[in-house]
Amino acid sequence: MVSARTASTRWLVRIIPLILGGCVAFATYVLVKRICVDHFIHTRHRQGTATTFLVFYGLFLLLMLFSYFRVFLIIQYDPGVTSLGPKAVQLREQDEKRKRRSRAAEGDLEAGERYESCPDSNPDSPGLELFYSKDVFVCNADGRPFWCSSCCNWKVDRAHHCSELERCVKKMDHFCPWVGGVVSETSFKFFIQFTFYTAVYCLVVIIAAVICLTQKIKSGAGADGVVIAILALSAFFGLFTFTMTCTSMRYACLNLTNVDYVKSKRVVHQLAIRVPRGTPKGQNYGVITYPLPKPENGAGTQTLESPRDQLATRTFAIVKTEMGENPWDLGTYRNWKSIMGDHISDWFLPLKHSPCASFENNESFYEMGPLYQQLRERFNLPQLSSEEKDIQELTKQRQGDGTNSRQSS
Ligand SMILES: [Zn+2]
Repeated sequence: MVSARTASTRWLVRIIPLILGGCVAFATYVLVKRICVDHFIHTRHRQGTATTFLVFYGLFLLLMLFSYFRVFLIIQYDPGVTSLGPKAVQLREQDEKRKRRSRAAEGDLEAGERYESCPDSNPDSPGLELFYSKDVFVCNADGRPFWCSSCCNWKVDRAHHCSELERCVKKMDHFCPWVGGVVSETSFKFFIQFTFYTAVYCLVVIIAAVICLTQKIKSGAGADGVVIAILALSAFFGLFTFTMTCTSMRYACLNLTNVDYVKSKRVVHQLAIRVPRGTPKGQNYGVITYPLPKPENGAGTQTLESPRDQLATRTFAIVKTEMGENPWDLGTYRNWKSIMGDHISDWFLPLKHSPCASFENNESFYEMGPLYQQLRERFNLPQLSSEEKDIQELTKQRQGDGTNSRQSS
């Protein structure tokens, strides 16, 4: 479980579900007892109207609660954080020990001291291979991935450092205390479903309350204060969740997160795109070859490496997108499906995870849109020879066999 750093946020996460639970209990009392039973059945003798409202209310109450628990639990237990670098693990353990020794610091101060680290200059830096074993990844001007100085690790594509969790979060959307933490790639789908069902649930309450109030006023019975209160409450939450649903659905269709959207118009992505081994620097792009050369041997070590190392060597061209281009834009419908699921039932039921969260591919961290091929053409990048692709596959198989035989012996 990954908790928020600050004590105030941790308390907010505990208190908000109780407040929401109180609101739902109140709404249920007003809708069932005051509106349906007292007004529609006893006063107006409209069993049909009462039943219709009770069925819709019950249905959307269940869907709302189900999606709420789904999103809340996912956020607590699987918020989509990336792993910490070895140095961060060590520093955070020391920090914990220091905190336990001196219990003087309380509240927000208990988060401990912050530390910063420079990118790991070791050519065999742990985690780097994860990047250059792909065919394309987001990189810095020097061709290395971005470094998170707080997690002391390389940042995978589309990860954002969340200061509340003090961790990098994959496809972080926003920090939402209403659902208990950070909405990210693991919870975005359930978050959309939760806000959608809450908006519809509020709409059912609003319609029932408005009909009840109008009939009461017309019949001269006067407005019921409790019904007015529930109308105001459901209008507030209804409007809030409706806006959230529209915004989130829009981001899903654009394949952007809230964090991405803020800078989406002026962002320029830098990508390392795999090219044939040893491709020289081009007119409009730089190159980088992995594994990075060891400093003691200098840059001209490639020829001294063993044939096995040569097979693992990969060259990447470093290219830039135009401002505002999104390399992960697959087109509206596929963007939507990458989050909500392939089947319509997945769009409505908060059960299965988003396909993008379990995307496993040797090519990239997330599925790349048509821009990937366009960039290859725009920069005139040489295509990989089929031989190089085959060798790569063979090496992987051999490495796989080696692991298996070691395990079995
Ligand atoms: Zn980080």
